[in-house]
Amino acid sequence: MSKPRVFSGVQPTGNLHLGNYLGAIRNWVKLQHDHECIYCVVDLHAITVWQDPADLTRAIREVAASLIAAGIDPTTSILFNQSKVSAHAETAWIFNCVARMGWLNRMTQFKEKAGKDRENASVGLFAYPNLMAADILAYKATHVPVGEDQKQHLELARDIAQKFNHDFGVEHFPAPDPLILGEATRVMSLRDGTKKMSKSDPSDQSRINLTDSPDDIEQKIRRAKTDPLPLPETVEEVAARPEAANLMTIYAALADESLADVVAAFAGKQFSDFKRALTERAVSVLSPITGEMRRLVADPGYVDGVLRQGGERAAAIAAPILAETKRIVGFL
Ligand code: ATP
Ligand code: MG
Repeated sequence: MSKPRVFSGVQPTGNLHLGNYLGAIRNWVKLQHDHECIYCVVDLHAITVWQDPADLTRAIREVAASLIAAGIDPTTSILFNQSKVSAHAETAWIFNCVARMGWLNRMTQFKEKAGKDRENASVGLFAYPNLMAADILAYKATHVPVGEDQKQHLELARDIAQKFNHDFGVEHFPAPDPLILGEATRVMSLRDGTKKMSKSDPSDQSRINLTDSPDDIEQKIRRAKTDPLPLPETVEEVAARPEAANLMTIYAALADESLADVVAAFAGKQFSDFKRALTERAVSVLSPITGEMRRLVADPGYVDGVLRQGGERAAAIAAPILAETKRIVGFL
């Protein structure tokens, strides 16, 4: 029996952060053992907001290096950047004609990213979920490991697959399942416990980057927003205190413990003690990745070679699927 096919992507909009790692990348690494994995640096998604070309090129290499450093094995898994395989853009155009305006109007990521100046957002930012559906379905991937913020887009991808099949009377695309795994599926900003930690947040203090030094990590955690009370004593109490919840959830994920264990260990203690323990955990998990990433970034020839080979392997899987998609639509 063939292994189930996994697809997931990360944008080269900056350096990877702890949220990307705990919510997505760490799960990507684990899935490599018993799945056929296709992992993508989604540069077409990145340009839905302005990217300086030189910065974009650098970020594609750095994100790829971070993924390898975090444990993605490019000899078994496929690792490439999205723009190398035109099936993504070609399938996305067909999906632009399958998805409905009303569906996309409900997407909360667009509302958050476009903010108040919606008239000035790029058309690409609005159509982003269609491209994401194309990323997955261009390979007929069935499992998609993502953070909690991508759940709504995955539901849209399922709707698109179903509508395509229904409109053309075929069973061509599978409905992909999200895999939202682990304790920290939605890591929040260190400055605001109600906002997601993001690469695109203008404040570097809001996130821990995979490139941060131990000193940076210590300083960011020490300055992380908390409330004035000692640490919560029950899991119910945690839920009502967003900043405490975020830091304790991060600790649980880093230590491979449940939130209940972390609550039991630190109940009633001061944040200063807890933050020291959290810093230690974060540094011990992230430092080896940072070191390996630095080594890889110094060898762009290697990283470029990985992406080129990954692109060729990905294109070979996508080609017959795209040919069939075009035939179904009626293209000659
Ligand atoms: P951007 O701000 O440019 O959208 P991002 O930080 O949201 O960047 P993405 O490249 O959009 O990162 O997402 C890559 C993966 O990381 C996705 O699977 C996403 O769900 C996951 N992810 C992103 N932010 C978090 C977070 N704060 N907690 C958990 N998972 C996250
Ligand atoms: Mg994002």
